[in-house]
Amino acid sequence: MPRKTSIERYRNIGIVAHVDAGKTTTTERILFYTGISHKMGEVHDGAAVMDWMEQEQERGITITSAATTCFWEGSAQQFPEHRINIIDTPGHVDFTVEVERSLRVLDGAVVVFCGTSGVEPQSETVWRQATRYRVPRIVFINKLDRQGANFFNVIDQIQARLGAIAVPLQIPIGAEEEFSGVIDLIHMREIIWKDEGQGVDYEITKLSGPFSEEVAFWRNALLEIAAEASEELMDKYLESGDLDTEDLKAGLRIRTLDNEIVPALCGSAFRNKGIQTLLDAVVDYLPSPVDIKAIEGLGKKDSIESRSADDDQPFSALIFKISTDPYVGALSFFRVYSGVLSVGDQVFNSIKEKKERVGRMVQLHSNNREEIKEVRAGDIGAAIGLKNVATGETLCSVDKPIVLEQMEFPEPVISVAVEPRSIGDQEKLSQAMTKLAQEDPSFRVEINDETRQVIISGMGELHLEVIIERMKREFEVEANIGKPQVAYRETIKVTAEEEGKFIRQTGGKGQYGHVVLRVEPFKNSSGEYDYQFNDATSGGVIPNEYISAIEKGVVEQMQNGAIAGYPSIGIRVTVCDGSFHETDSSDIAFKIAASMALRAAILKAMPIVLEPNMSVEVVTPDENMGDVIGDINRRRGIVSGMSENPEGKILKATVPLSEMFGYSTDLRSKTQGRASYTMEFSNYEAVPDNLTEGIRFKA
Ligand code: GDP
Repeated sequence: MPRKTSIERYRNIGIVAHVDAGKTTTTERILFYTGISHKMGEVHDGAAVMDWMEQEQERGITITSAATTCFWEGSAQQFPEHRINIIDTPGHVDFTVEVERSLRVLDGAVVVFCGTSGVEPQSETVWRQATRYRVPRIVFINKLDRQGANFFNVIDQIQARLGAIAVPLQIPIGAEEEFSGVIDLIHMREIIWKDEGQGVDYEITKLSGPFSEEVAFWRNALLEIAAEASEELMDKYLESGDLDTEDLKAGLRIRTLDNEIVPALCGSAFRNKGIQTLLDAVVDYLPSPVDIKAIEGLGKKDSIESRSADDDQPFSALIFKISTDPYVGALSFFRVYSGVLSVGDQVFNSIKEKKERVGRMVQLHSNNREEIKEVRAGDIGAAIGLKNVATGETLCSVDKPIVLEQMEFPEPVISVAVEPRSIGDQEKLSQAMTKLAQEDPSFRVEINDETRQVIISGMGELHLEVIIERMKREFEVEANIGKPQVAYRETIKVTAEEEGKFIRQTGGKGQYGHVVLRVEPFKNSSGEYDYQFNDATSGGVIPNEYISAIEKGVVEQMQNGAIAGYPSIGIRVTVCDGSFHETDSSDIAFKIAASMALRAAILKAMPIVLEPNMSVEVVTPDENMGDVIGDINRRRGIVSGMSENPEGKILKATVPLSEMFGYSTDLRSKTQGRASYTMEFSNYEAVPDNLTEGIRFKA
C-alpha cells in the first residue's frame, strides 16, 4: 500500500498552554476548520471534541494526551494537503510528566498564550521543557477580544521571561471588542473575519502604502530576521532591500527549525478569528518528520544506532500514552520514527524483551476511530490489545531491536490509602491499578503487607484525585479513601560503620553471613540525594558470589528507613569487611546480615526525616499580597522572589508539601477566587526536629 500523504507533508504537533489560555477552544476550532468536527461545541457545555473523557469535561481540564489527525490544504488552498497530527498535552502542573511524554514524540508545538494574562508561571515550565527537547515552536496569542488584551505586551514578555525572540507575523486590527482581523506581514495584506458563519469566511484585501510606522517596522524586522538564515538570502536582501514571499518564508522556517526564533500569530479562538492563518503557519514553519535529526537509541550490545524518518529503515516506535477505551480496551498510542508496521506483524518490545503480534490498529480523529492496516514513518497510531507494554517503551522490528531513550519520571511526593469495601472490590481494584499504572508511569501502587491497604502515590493532590475518580467511575470500585499523606524520605547526617551477623547452628547445615558496612551521606553531581553501593573488601574475606546477595539486602533495607519506615535516600553504602563459612554460608544468610548491618549503621549515623519541598508560584491581585505572604509564612514557606504581570503580583516561594494541603481552597477564600497558583516538586529538606516526633511512627 503506498503512502497516502508524503512524509514531508506531515506535521506532528502539540498544542501547549497554561490552563485557561484557550488550548481546548483553539484545538476544537482547528478540528472544525479542518473539517473533522462538524458541530461546533463550546467548552462551556462540555462538547469540545478533545475533551472526550467524562471527567475531563466536568473538570474543564484536558488530562489525557489523545492524538488526533486532521488535514489542511491552506487557507486559500495554496498547498497540497498536509496531514497534521495533534498530540494533546495537559495543561495542569500536576501533569507535567504527561506534558514531557508528549513533547518527546512531537516535532513542533503551538504555544497558546492568553492575550491578557500573557506569560504565566506554568507557561514558563512548559516552555523550558520544550526547550530541553529542542522542539521548534510558534506562538498563538489568543483572546485578543478580551478587555486588556495586548499582543505586543505578550511579545515583550516572551522575550523578557522566556528569553525567546518572538517574531510577529501579524499585527492585530482593532482591539478588545473591536478586534476583527490581522495585518499579514508576510503577504502584506489585511484579513478580516466575518462575525457570522463561525469564522469560515474572511475577506482579504491588499495593503496599500504608505504603511503605518508599526507595519513598516515589523515588516523590516521580519525581512532582516529571515535574511540572516543564509548567505544567499542575505545577499538577495542587501541587493534589493526586500525578499519575495517564498524566500521570506524559507528564511523564517530555517530559523524556526533551528530554534532561533519563534513566529508569533494572534487571534481569538472563541470568536473564530485567526485559526486558519495559524494552521497555515503550522505548515509553513513547523518541521516535518524529515526535518528532525534521526532518532538515536541503543541497539544490540548497547551500540548507539540511529533511525531516520524513512519507510525503508527497520521499524521503530515509542509508546507515549496508554489509555483505556470503554469500547475496545487498552489503546497503546505510539509515534513511528522509522519503517512500516502492518496488522498481523510481530513487534518486539525492546525494554521488556517480548514479542507480540499486532492485532488491530486505529487512528483517532478526535473521538472517532478509523481502523488502519499499517503505519509508516512519521505516523501516530494506536494498537489495540497489546499486553506487554507500558508508556515510554519502544516497539521495534524483531530483527533489528533498538531501545529509544527511556523517559525518566520524577518521584511521587504524595500518597493516599485506598481500602476496598468488599472482596469483589479488592479484585476490581487490583485490575484498575494495573491498568492505570500502565497508562501513567508517574503514579505508583504498593500494598502494605500488614494492613493489606493499597497505597497509591503521585505527583500532587489533583493527580491522585483524578486517579481515584477514574477508579470509581471506570472500574466501579467501591473503596474508602484515606487522607493524603506526604511521601517522606529518610537520610543520614554522618558516616558510621556497623556489622551484621546472621549465624545459626542447629545441627546439620547452618547459616553463616557476616558483613561490615559503612554508610556515608551521598549526593550526586547535581546535588540530589542519591544511592551508591561499593564493595571495598579484598583478599576474599567475603567470596565474590555473595556480594550481589549483600546488595539485595541493602536495597531492601533502604526501602524501609530506620526512623519511620520511609525509604532512605542519599546514602553511599560500602562493604568494608566480613567473614564466611565454608559450608554454612549462603545468599540468604548474607542478605539478612547485610540488612541487619545497614539498619544498625544508619541508626548510628544520625538519621533524619526529609520532606518534599515544593516550589510554589502564586499570582494574586495587589491588594491580597499581604494576606498571601502571611499565609505562605504560616505554612513554613520561604518567599524567594516577587514580580508582576498584568493579572497582578507573582510571588515565588518554597513551601513544604505537608503544609500545602487544602491550599487551593484557602487561597480562593482569602482572595475571593482571584488568585491562582502552581506548584511543583523542588527538593527534599530535613523536617525540623520538633515536627519529626509527629511522623516518627508511620501509620
Ligand atoms: P484551556 O484550559 O487552555 O484548554 O482553555 P479553554 O479552551 O478551555 O478556554 C478557557 C476559557 O477561556 C473558556 O471559558 C473559553 O471559552 C475561553 N476562551 C477561549 N478562547 C477565548 C478567546 O479567544 N476569547 C475569549 N474571550 N475567551 C476565550
